[in-house]
Amino acid sequence: MTADAVVAAMKAEINHGLSAAEAVLRLAAQGPNELRSAAKVATWRRWLAQFQDPLVALLLAAIVIALAAWWIEGRKGWPVDALVIAVVVVLNAALGRLQEAKAEDAVAALARMTEASATVLREGKPQRVPSAALVTGDVLLLAEGDAVGADARLLQATSLRVQEASLTGESEAVLKDAATLTRAAQATPLAERLNMVFKGTAVAQGSGRAVVTATGMNTELGRIAHLLEATAPPPSPLQKEVARTGRNLGVAVLVIAVVVVGTILAMSDIQSAADVIPVLLLGVSLAVAAVPEGLPAILSLVLALGVQRMAKHSAIMKGLSTVETLGCASVIASDKTGTLTRNEMTIQRVVTASGTTHVTGVGYGPEGRVEHNGSELAAGALHEEQTVVLSGGSVAGNAHLQHPESTTWGIVGDPTEAAFLVAALKMELTDEREHRFTRVDEIGFTSERQMMSAVVIDHHLQGARMLVSKGAPGALMARCTQVRVGMQVQPLNDTMRAQLVAQTNEMAGAALRTLAVAYRPLSEIESAAEGAKPDLEQNLILAGIVGMIDPPREEAAVAIAEARRAGIRVIMITGDHPRTAARIAAGLGIVEAGSKALTGTELEALDGPGFESAVRHTSVFARVAPAHKLRIISVLQGDGNVVAMTGDGVNDAPALKAADIGIAMGITGTEVSKEAAKMILADDNFATIVQAVREGRAIFDNIRKFLRYLLSSNMGEVLTVFLGVVGGGVIGLTAESSAGGHAVVLPLLATQLLWINLVTDSAPALALGVDPPVCDLMARKPRPLTERLIDGRMWRDVFEIGLVTAVLTLLTMDMHLPGGLIEGSGNLTTARTAGFTVLVVASLFNCLSARSDTASAFIHLFANRWLWAAIALSALLQVAVVHLPWLNIAFGTVPLTLQQWAVCVAMGSGVLWFTELRKAVGRAYQ
Ligand code: ATP
Repeated sequence: MTADAVVAAMKAEINHGLSAAEAVLRLAAQGPNELRSAAKVATWRRWLAQFQDPLVALLLAAIVIALAAWWIEGRKGWPVDALVIAVVVVLNAALGRLQEAKAEDAVAALARMTEASATVLREGKPQRVPSAALVTGDVLLLAEGDAVGADARLLQATSLRVQEASLTGESEAVLKDAATLTRAAQATPLAERLNMVFKGTAVAQGSGRAVVTATGMNTELGRIAHLLEATAPPPSPLQKEVARTGRNLGVAVLVIAVVVVGTILAMSDIQSAADVIPVLLLGVSLAVAAVPEGLPAILSLVLALGVQRMAKHSAIMKGLSTVETLGCASVIASDKTGTLTRNEMTIQRVVTASGTTHVTGVGYGPEGRVEHNGSELAAGALHEEQTVVLSGGSVAGNAHLQHPESTTWGIVGDPTEAAFLVAALKMELTDEREHRFTRVDEIGFTSERQMMSAVVIDHHLQGARMLVSKGAPGALMARCTQVRVGMQVQPLNDTMRAQLVAQTNEMAGAALRTLAVAYRPLSEIESAAEGAKPDLEQNLILAGIVGMIDPPREEAAVAIAEARRAGIRVIMITGDHPRTAARIAAGLGIVEAGSKALTGTELEALDGPGFESAVRHTSVFARVAPAHKLRIISVLQGDGNVVAMTGDGVNDAPALKAADIGIAMGITGTEVSKEAAKMILADDNFATIVQAVREGRAIFDNIRKFLRYLLSSNMGEVLTVFLGVVGGGVIGLTAESSAGGHAVVLPLLATQLLWINLVTDSAPALALGVDPPVCDLMARKPRPLTERLIDGRMWRDVFEIGLVTAVLTLLTMDMHLPGGLIEGSGNLTTARTAGFTVLVVASLFNCLSARSDTASAFIHLFANRWLWAAIALSALLQVAVVHLPWLNIAFGTVPLTLQQWAVCVAMGSGVLWFTELRKAVGRAYQ
């Protein structure tokens, strides 16, 4: 079909686009432009999934055992134990589901932040809309680096090349045009449908307009999409390690539970089933209490909350697993323009054949003057040459200036291009793009060519066509054979060339970004040829070279110093001039003043070992093409580094994928780079990367904190029951069996263990997961990726703290029992209530000391208000379980006196004093 026929069929409006109302109507009728993902799991199913945990099966078994006990004992009153366990099962499931839902919400919010967008014409204006909102009949505006959001018929294309490998397997970008195809669509393979662009592909070069013909599952990608059913992201190494640890612990605890139950049964005289049942119940409860079943859910939640915090600070992660890698980053390789500098370009100097002129003023406002200190004669020639440079630079660009609504001038487009417009305004040149020249074609900018050109019609010269180019001086001057001098054109001889190169170097040495401008009238044959090809960019006439300032970001220097302190190497990889790059890098503290930058050309000349050594010893790379980035990454990674690398262009995508942490620019980055990256910098700012690394380290630390806490508290419970059973006699924990022999007494009741599990495992552990850093995170070296989450030292801590907790608990029980080591006057229920309380109190003190394995708990003691809120809540619940009559019945407790409470708190605090002492000794012998 012709373009017009397609436009009519799609009821599209080429110049105005759809109205907002029509777009809404069509979206409602057609549905979102998305590939269908696997059907959503119903909420009730997710709740039910909580009960699939093997531990819940254990708890259900416990309910059955408790019911059996109640039955055997003659069904007196309510089956309290069974009811309590049932409540615990439901509460456990509710907590688990809540944590999971919160984590899912955070991940979904992230996905919304990073969703693809497209530029369309609507209501007569170009607008950026989420790709999912595209409808048929929308007019797509395509530019280099855009992801194609839907299938669309081209209306117009300018050197448009589209990368379609994902759809057709063709690795070369395909040149597209809007011409009508002669073959029928069915007879034309996808790869040959040159007047169509397809969803899922990307614009590698050029620009175009197209009308959307299909969205969502109706696109060509949609047809093959059932092959790509939505899959959940695989668990990260951290999630795997935590899950593995959880499983191993589960098995270990089950073994211990079996041993405990076996020991009790072997040591008592069993008379009836009624003697066995409480022992079985204890075994099951011990297993349930000691296995940290909440670990994976808490881990996801802590990661998700961390990722949310980072997003608030402009660092948007695309998945949870990037967070753990971030903390390990040992090299940050950053672009210069916009990331380390402000990307606010102002032309300060213009060098032409007749001399140099200075341009005053800062920013994008036209306040400023063009000054020179030459003779009157030179002034005329200079003025003419500047006019050509500045109007040429403006004509060969796509940026626009925005008149100020308040006080500042704004720009739309590339700041490098806008700088020409501002300088032209300062020279009072009217907008030549509108009046004198009409743009008919463009040869787009690529980082490889380092230049771009426009073909224009010059209305002052009877509509003759002209090519106007701007680009890096080295690249552009290599294509120049003549030079503009005043009103004349002269051959560009070696002396003049050398003089201009020297002046360019001098500007670059002063940290100025240099760009050259050149032009050439096109012959009639060239004008008649269709499409502008790069081979037109030959035999150009050099107009001159400008030097523009791009001030470094102040916060970048601070961030670089911090990165260095944290053992992270910072590398600058830029497309700019080596001298400009080296000077700016020195100003920011990346290298010593006077250091040299290595260029892409120099890199290419190096052999393997030479290249490797260059990458190890150089920190500024200039005039580098995206392909070099890939080689640099592979050398860095080969040395065991974890590399964070920034990129913004289409061609940066492979490097972004290869880096451990690919970072795309939120403002200036192309859609393609954002798709390839793992993290997006919403503010394009280098300092945000360093901040994200710090946050990544903090999150990893917090995961260790809650693991240390959960594991050691659980160890305390296990050892209390185990030692209480094995050594019960020593502390007076014995009773006469019905047959007159010694029966083993359960140190704690099953329901009490379940209570501890519920009260201490969730809120305090979560609060530790969002703990502010205790020590200076950036004073450490990066953590190796291979470092275990729970190392030998942590296991030793866990065992020691568990043992101290158990001893303190059992001693407290002993104090309340007649006989044993310390003579007491209480009874078994009081002793159990006291022991139960000590375990909870010890666990609350333990969460204070778990905040660091080296620093004292009293450092920044009150920094984490969540932790204190969790401690207060747990303490309140414990008071309730000890003093509320109905909870007394449910949990087999009795009210304690004030004095007994004081003893419990004092004994429970022993855990804190023990860890303080151990940390102090550790610090002294460090
Ligand atoms: P960085 O890689 O740090 O972002 P950069 O912007 O200099 O720096 P590229 O975008 O690869 O890197 O540009 C390479 C060179 O091409 C620039 O130094 C400049 O001389 C030239 N250049 C940049 N933008 C344009 C443009 N819009 N038109 C013509 N030439 C340009």
